[in-house]
Amino acid sequence: KYTGPSYDDVRKIRDTNLNPALATHFSKPLLTHAGHMQWLYDHEGRRYLDLFAGIVTVSVGHCHEKVRLAAEAQMKSLWHTTNIYLHPKIHEYAERLIEKLPGDLKVVYFVNSGSEANDLAMTMARIYTGNFDIISLRNSYHGASPYTMGLTAHGTWKYKGLANGFGVHHVSNPDPYLGIWGGHRDSVIQSSRASESSVVDGVCSSADKYVGQLEETIKYSIPGKGVAAFFAESIQGVGGGVQFPLGYLKKAFELVRANGGLCVSDEVQTGFGRTGDHFWGFEGHGVVPDIVTMAKGIGNGFPLAAVVTTPEVARTMSGALHFNTFGGNPIASAVGVAVLDAIEEDNIQENCLNLGPYILTGLQAICNESSLVGDVRGKGLMLSIEMVVDKESRAPLEPQRMMGIWDDCKDLGVILGKGGLHGNVFRIKPPMCINKADVDFTLAVFKQVLSKYE
Ligand code: PMP
Repeated sequence: KYTGPSYDDVRKIRDTNLNPALATHFSKPLLTHAGHMQWLYDHEGRRYLDLFAGIVTVSVGHCHEKVRLAAEAQMKSLWHTTNIYLHPKIHEYAERLIEKLPGDLKVVYFVNSGSEANDLAMTMARIYTGNFDIISLRNSYHGASPYTMGLTAHGTWKYKGLANGFGVHHVSNPDPYLGIWGGHRDSVIQSSRASESSVVDGVCSSADKYVGQLEETIKYSIPGKGVAAFFAESIQGVGGGVQFPLGYLKKAFELVRANGGLCVSDEVQTGFGRTGDHFWGFEGHGVVPDIVTMAKGIGNGFPLAAVVTTPEVARTMSGALHFNTFGGNPIASAVGVAVLDAIEEDNIQENCLNLGPYILTGLQAICNESSLVGDVRGKGLMLSIEMVVDKESRAPLEPQRMMGIWDDCKDLGVILGKGGLHGNVFRIKPPMCINKADVDFTLAVFKQVLSKYE
C-alpha cells in the first residue's frame, strides 16, 4: 500500500525542484509506487501493463527476484572499491558477457549509462584510427552527453549554442516507410512501400541507394576520406523503431571499413535477446562490429553499461589512463551476472522470438482497418506503430490525437511508449517476460481506443 506524500505534493516538488528538461509522460503522469515483472502499480493501487519497461530498460521484469537477491547478497559483503583492486564479480561478469559476443569482441570496459558507453566508443575509434570524423544516421539517438548529443540526430534532444556536433556527419536514414526509396526489411510484416524495391541475394535495392549516399558523404564531406567511426542502432529506438532495408548495414560497414573507420553497433535498446532471433540486434544484419555499446536492459534497471571491442582496438587505450569511478562495481557486476542468468533460465530470447510475430500479426490486422495506423514494424519485442493522419500522405498524426490515444490506453491499463522524430510512433518494448494474454489485452485496448479517434 502506498503511504508516501500526496500526488499533488509530489507533483509540486517535480515542478519546482527538478529540472524542467526532465519531461514526464502522459497528461497526468503516473505516480509509480511498485513494480512486479511486467506490471507497474500507481499510488492508488491501480495496475498497468508496462509495455515501455522504463524506456526499454527493465529486461527480465520489474524487481525480478533473482536479480534482487543477487544485488542484496552483494550489498552484504562489499559495495564498492572502484576498479583499482581485483574483485571476483567483475571478472566473472566480464567473462560471462564476452561469451555472448561473436568474433574477436573480447575486451570490455564497464561504465554506467548508454551516453557514457557511446562517448567512450567515440574516443576509442578516434584514438585507434587517428581520424576524427564520425558518421551517424539521421533520426538516430545515441545519448545526451556533449559528445553523444552530437551523434544524436533529433533536434528535440539538442540545445542551441552548444557546438556538440563537431566532426559528426548525419547521413540519410534508410527508412523503408518514409525514406525516399522504400525498402524490404527483416520482419514478418513488410512496409507498404516494399514493392518499390527488389531483393537480390539478401540485399534490398534501396539499401544500395542509401549506401550510395553514405559514400557521397564520405567522399565530399570528410577530409581525406578518413573516417573514425560509423554508428548505428540495429533497430532505431527513440527514432521510432525504424528497421533498415535488408543488407544496408552490411554494405555500410564494408564501405566505412574501406575508408579506415570502425563500425559501432549501439545495442542499448536491441541487445540481450530483445529481437528474438539473436542475442544482439546486429547479428540479424549479418555483421560483426568493431565496437558494441550496451546499456539499459543489461542491468534490468540498475545503472550499468559497457563497451566491448577487440583486443587490438582496446590496446590503443593503454596510451593513457582512463578512469570511471562506478563502472562495473561489485553490485553492478552481480546484477549483470544475474540478468544473464535470468535471460537463460526464463527463456527470454525465445519468448521474444515467439511473441514478436504474434503481436505484429494482430497489429497488422488493426492497421488494415484503421486509417490512423500507417505502419507496424519491428522484431521480437522491439516493435513500433507509426500513427498517421491518413495512409496516403503518411503525415504524422497530430500531437492532440497522439496524446489522447496514449492517455486513454494508459487509463485502460496499458502503458505504451512514444517516440519518432515527430512524436507519432507508439513503441512496444516491454519487459521481455510478457505473455500471450498480455498481448491479447493490449490489442483489444488499442483497438477500442483507436475507434474513438478515427
Ligand atoms: N543509445 C540508445 C540507442 C538509446 O536509446 C539511449 C537512451 N535512450 C542511449 C544510447 C543513451 O543511454 P543513457 O540514457 O543511458 O545515457
